[in-house]
Amino acid sequence: MSIKLGTNDLAKYPFLNEASLYIKDTHFDLLEFDRSEMSFIINRSFDKIESFIKNNETLYHYEIDRFEIEILTFLASLLILKSASIDIVTKKFALLESMRFEKYLIDDLKNSFKDEKKRLILLKIFKEVFKIDVYAETKPIEVYKIRALDYIRRSIVFHEQEWKLINRTVKDGYVYLTVTEIVRLFRNELSLLIIDKIKNMKSIAFPNQVLIKSQKLKSYWDSINKKADAKFVNKKSVTPPCIEHLYRVLDAGENLPHSARLLLATFLMFSGKSIEEIVEIFRKLPDFNERITRYQLEHLSGKAGSSKKYFVPSCEKIKMENLCHETSVCKGITNPVHLLSRRIMG
Ligand code: SF4
Repeated sequence: MSIKLGTNDLAKYPFLNEASLYIKDTHFDLLEFDRSEMSFIINRSFDKIESFIKNNETLYHYEIDRFEIEILTFLASLLILKSASIDIVTKKFALLESMRFEKYLIDDLKNSFKDEKKRLILLKIFKEVFKIDVYAETKPIEVYKIRALDYIRRSIVFHEQEWKLINRTVKDGYVYLTVTEIVRLFRNELSLLIIDKIKNMKSIAFPNQVLIKSQKLKSYWDSINKKADAKFVNKKSVTPPCIEHLYRVLDAGENLPHSARLLLATFLMFSGKSIEEIVEIFRKLPDFNERITRYQLEHLSGKAGSSKKYFVPSCEKIKMENLCHETSVCKGITNPVHLLSRRIMG
């Protein structure tokens, strides 16, 4: 049976192949973005990217009835990011966009048990985008299931206990998942799909309006980056290799697991950095949330919660968490802070 997406679906999920086909079928030329009536789309795309970077939240309202606007806004956003070519910004955008699509998917999947057509459309999206068969069961409860092998391949990147196969309901070779879980399982893939779309745009003559916005984006990013870099500890002379590695991950725009955030935060606090300065450093995380980061730092410093101050974990603990990047400078130390004081004294 052929399942056709509705225009509302294209407005919500402009990363789908059918959205690209729409662009192709209408013979839209990228240089048409320079037409005056397209300024609205270009501005809308830039505002979306800027707001994502500034707020680290997906503050964006899509036009449900005007799918053309959403498809073109998505395309123009990718063009601006391609032209700006800032890895961290691209990854941040891709993660926040995928989190936005995730919310729509969760709502749609929740309603899909009552609507057979909607359900088929969503399962088609999973098949098309993630190359996976997802099955719905309605009895005795409404739930989704995927093949165990597909589950293992995806859940391997999650460290939390709840994602371990042993903690899941498995029956006849299938893993059962709630709506939220199944969507969360694919967040990374959706984010990578958006990054790939940007990377795979080849030899493009960028419209002038896109070049102007990408220049504006670069200037904005440079200005907030300089602020954060000025507050960094002197990495070259005093930083232990495990911490140095975390800086590199941050600079590459990658996310850090909870244990790595704890190590970096406690180390920076020990180095005399203020909460304000550490917030600026953590701002580079793709999923940065200022309110949560500030709250967690206050908790770690003993200013909130149990008033227990957290100390920098020992090298032994850091090794157990696979965060150690030992080099010859680490000889004889049992905590990264020993290296710091040894160098300062030396
Ligand atoms: S030995 Fe200690 S200081 Fe050195 S990289 Fe490993 S955890 Fe960090």
